[in-house]
Amino acid sequence: MGVVPFFFLFYFHFFFFSFVSFVSNMSLYAKERSVAIQAVLQASKVCQSVFQHLVANETLTKNDKSPVTVADFSAQAIVNTYLQKAFPQDPIIGEEDSKDLRGEEGRILREKVHALTNGVLQDNEKLSEDQILQAIDRGNYAGGPQGRHWALDPIDGTKGFLRGGQYAVCLALIVDGVVQLGVMGTPNLPIDARQPDGEKGTLFVAVRGQGAFQRPFSQEKETKIHFADIDDTKNATFCESVEAGHSSHDDASSIAKLLGITRPSIRMDSQAKYCSIARGDADIYLRLPTSKTYVEKIWDHASGNVLITEAGGKITDVNGQPLDFSIGRTLSKNSGVIASNASIFDSLLSAVQKVLQK
Ligand code: AMP
Ligand code: MG
Repeated sequence: MGVVPFFFLFYFHFFFFSFVSFVSNMSLYAKERSVAIQAVLQASKVCQSVFQHLVANETLTKNDKSPVTVADFSAQAIVNTYLQKAFPQDPIIGEEDSKDLRGEEGRILREKVHALTNGVLQDNEKLSEDQILQAIDRGNYAGGPQGRHWALDPIDGTKGFLRGGQYAVCLALIVDGVVQLGVMGTPNLPIDARQPDGEKGTLFVAVRGQGAFQRPFSQEKETKIHFADIDDTKNATFCESVEAGHSSHDDASSIAKLLGITRPSIRMDSQAKYCSIARGDADIYLRLPTSKTYVEKIWDHASGNVLITEAGGKITDVNGQPLDFSIGRTLSKNSGVIASNASIFDSLLSAVQKVLQK
């Protein structure tokens, strides 16, 4: 064989097999991705409906937390029902259980959950009270290092929900201890941060190895997202919790000083922070422990974890250790969380360690 045909064949094979492997990778978890998106969209819709019915029209006293409870239960019932239909063998770790909805004491809450849940489901999807309770309790899995399971936070950022601020419905698929798929619905996050008064309701999705995407609730077309380009931490903006009890604001401001950051922090509830940095609205996520005893829950970080990596970022705990999703319902081997574009991550980690070691 001559040299030219040999090279031609070589390159043909190389590109052909790369193409085949690209296509087969993109179809990995395709059904899970599509079911998770539908589940999160419907659960987000129920949260919006609860907000309209129970919070916005102020039928409740100011400090009544029950709307968030109704939304939490309804969202978990919806997501678990979708998962059960499509993947009956998959266990689920969900934040809620049905205890408070059972018996005579739970009747009023149960009826509200029943009515609001069915209010967003199609006629052929409607659930009985019993089906709702059972669906919620499918979220009782203990987790662990082997096999597949889902992790669900039906409403992350309950305080944000009540304030009319940011909250997120967060669903992730964990396989052998590694998050492979993350879907987040953020009903109050603008589709474009540069147009804060524009359309709201953004869905984020990432599958490991396939990139990170966002789309409006109202359209199926997805757009690829990526961290903002940044090579000097002094130009960065960081995100932190609104609640000082969830992440130390004092330590964050010392870290910002060390990094030369002058821009004010963005305080935001929920995993919407992960979404914001993954699409370049801000650059750094800081979750700095406020106590030695608190352990992070996997549903608060699983979907954000894969979104960050797929958008070109890096995420670890405050000691630079990867988050370990293989040990059950909590991240008991980790402490806090930090994330940023991979390009500035080493500088971020060293500033975090300097401040926290003091
Ligand atoms: P965020 O909206 O980012 O402040 O996070 C909300 C989540 O913080 C809730 O879903 C809780 O699970 C979690 N949380 C509750 N207490 C703490 C704490 N002491 N430290 C860190 N996170 C907490
Ligand atoms: Mg949460």
